[in-house]
Amino acid sequence: MKPFTYERASDALSAVKAVAENPGAKFLAGGTNLLDLMKLEIERPIHLVDVGRLPFAGIEETAEGGLRIGGAMTNSKLATHPKVRERYPVLTRAILSGASGQLRNKATTAGNLLQRTRCDYFYDTTKPCNKRQPGSGCSALGGPHHYGAIFGASEACIATHTSDMAVALTALDASVETLTPQGQGRTIKVRDLHRLPGDTPHVETDLAAGELITAVVVPPPPEGAQSYRKVRDRASYAHGLAMVAVAGGQVALGAVAAKPWRAEAMEAALAGGASPADAVQAELDGAQKNERTAFRVTLIGRLAAAAVEDARDGRTA
Ligand SMILES: Cc1cc2nc3c(=O)[nH]c(=O)nc-3n(C[C@H](O)[C@H](O)[C@H](O)COP(=O)(O)OP(=O)(O)OC[C@H]3O[C@@H](n4cnc5c(N)ncnc54)[C@H](O)[C@@H]3O)c2cc1C
Ligand code: SF4
Repeated sequence: MKPFTYERASDALSAVKAVAENPGAKFLAGGTNLLDLMKLEIERPIHLVDVGRLPFAGIEETAEGGLRIGGAMTNSKLATHPKVRERYPVLTRAILSGASGQLRNKATTAGNLLQRTRCDYFYDTTKPCNKRQPGSGCSALGGPHHYGAIFGASEACIATHTSDMAVALTALDASVETLTPQGQGRTIKVRDLHRLPGDTPHVETDLAAGELITAVVVPPPPEGAQSYRKVRDRASYAHGLAMVAVAGGQVALGAVAAKPWRAEAMEAALAGGASPADAVQAELDGAQKNERTAFRVTLIGRLAAAAVEDARDGRTA
């Protein structure tokens, strides 16, 4: 690990300034992703600004009847909060299906949304990777693996985003609130926070350097039941091969693109009276697949149809 300096932020604005004015600085929250990447020297910050103890760790009601969740709230506290369990079971289910109890006790709301891809080649510093080193190439293209994106991939990168929480928040139509380097507040829909790779896969979000996520705002729950389903290579403590969140008529898919994928074609078909199996086909008509990922297109289709049926039948699998 490269040497670095550390400071604990006492307020949000000074944290933002400390990172925005120092190109080598990064925010540190729970550290469960960033420190792993620093040990591998994939991330090499020279200064860490610890935002994990800023007073953004609670939940409050919004005037609209939703919830404002602090960016520093831990995943464990968020998943088990009575208001979340009662009104947003899809969010509780999504968070509890991710990582492990110990990790969730440290991981924060903002850190979870901004975790980096789990593409094996991104972690293997002996291999070219356009996300890790722009212009070096993509080892995953043609590599022996089955986890490539099936929506929105480019010739430069086929990695997926693996946050479970982001999938549920996308189905719930949630937004993040930020503090910009200019000291102003900004609101971005979670579905618009992450970028598709194009020819700049190293630019992963629409956040400016030093822009701090202070909160996630969830609107009132949509009409109708909610459900969450995830399939992974082993039963627990693993990132997903496919994830689906359903909240009323809103559906989001996970591990299928560089961002949580709002399934708009599927939603429109469901609203028009299509069966879940037919509705998901409308979404999958736009899928990119090859011989390695074809089974995941089938998998996400079956999982999405099952998750809609779960919600309709009152199951919260
Ligand atoms: C073994 C293992 C299994 C896992 N399995 C899953 C899984 O199944 N599902 C899943 O969703 N996740 C999984 N995770 C990922 C885990 O959820 C993330 O590591 C965690 O959520 C990151 O949160 P953190 O607070 O520790 O972030 P950090 O590691 O502290 O930070 C992550 C990034 O966010 C930035 N950041 C942090 N806070 C802010 C802020 N307020 N504003 C702007 N930038 C900020 C940091 O600079 C850094 O770039 C797993 C992790 C491990 C190690
Ligand atoms: S898919 Fe993206 S993250 Fe993975 S090796 Fe290719 S460029 Fe790197």
